[in-house]
Amino acid sequence: MKKQLICIICPRGCTLTAESGNGIKVSGNACPKGEKYAIDELTNPLRTVTSTVRVKNMPLTMVSVKTKDPIPKDKMAEAMKIIRATEVNAPIKIGDVIIKDVFGTDIIATKEINL
Ligand code: SF4
Repeated sequence: MKKQLICIICPRGCTLTAESGNGIKVSGNACPKGEKYAIDELTNPLRTVTSTVRVKNMPLTMVSVKTKDPIPKDKMAEAMKIIRATEVNAPIKIGDVIIKDVFGTDIIATKEINL
């Protein structure tokens, strides 16, 4: 099987070709990061999820959040459900853990909310 993909690791955006058969052979990459990216995409694609969480004690206020580490791509919808069902109280600092252990990582705040 042959698959083409664009490397998103840096702005150069190399067009990669990954051929699977006896292992995975990658071409089109200008550096080794592209090879790793293509192999990860074919074997275990990961994504960082970004979203917002409602601030319970401040009406109409949301705090932006993200997964501390990337999670499996096929778990993104489930992670979004967990995030949407969550409310948090201010004050909140950048890096505060908003939800613990969502598919092996934490959901952390990316914005400061003061009372
Ligand atoms: S292969 Fe290397 S140079 Fe090309 S986009 Fe990926 S990281 Fe950038």
